[in-house]
Amino acid sequence: MTWIKKTVIAPKIFSGYPEIRSGMSTKLGRKSQAGFEMNLSYKVGDDPATVEINRATFFSQFEIYNSELAIPLQFHSANVCRVDKPGEYNNCDALITNASGVALVITVADCVPILLFDPIQKVIGIVHAGWKGTANAIVKRAIYKMQEEFKTETENVLAFIGPSAGVCCYEVSEEVAVKFENKIVPYDKAKIFVDLKKENAFQLQRQGVVPGNIEISELCTICEKQLFHSYRRDGKSAGRMMAVIYLKP
Ligand SMILES: [Zn+2]
Repeated sequence: MTWIKKTVIAPKIFSGYPEIRSGMSTKLGRKSQAGFEMNLSYKVGDDPATVEINRATFFSQFEIYNSELAIPLQFHSANVCRVDKPGEYNNCDALITNASGVALVITVADCVPILLFDPIQKVIGIVHAGWKGTANAIVKRAIYKMQEEFKTETENVLAFIGPSAGVCCYEVSEEVAVKFENKIVPYDKAKIFVDLKKENAFQLQRQGVVPGNIEISELCTICEKQLFHSYRRDGKSAGRMMAVIYLKP
């Protein structure tokens, strides 16, 4: 497929809402001396000074400062935290807030990033859904928590399911595959591929999110090696992208 050289993947679904800034980084940008390309994680062995510049570069495109970031620790849980200020949050893989000036951020390289917005109650959410989080319905829990904490009506929710491992490449074992409905099993059953994006879209729909309010990126992080880091493809030497959603102060 053809793609335009760009440093941010921008959701279209939020484009009518000037109060929202959102996007996901790519691997296009600065290379570090450690050999990473536009890596935004401090945890993969990259040079910290370069990571800091990379983050500042990425977030400056949204006029967001590094000091405004709210970042979950991420351990493939299905826990959702409500946050009201920037900082690092242990014990969760998803964040929700109605506070403006707080950038909800997750780190990804194949796992599914999901951005949520309720334009009526002015609530945003971000979800890190790998296969474990997806199997444990983390996006469904995020929607529940938006309903509980902020009286969100699900038919108002807009969702962006971002670039991540596609069904074209995401091969899993039988033990993992049984947890999912959306998969491709070739006739000889030699390989099983799970569609995590579709799984998450279906979870949203079952919660009452309107299909037309869900944008699913077609980009696969494993296929698009010039555009994305991929843990599945590059293993331990993989860098990380970040996804962000932010309510303007
Ligand atoms: Zn692929």
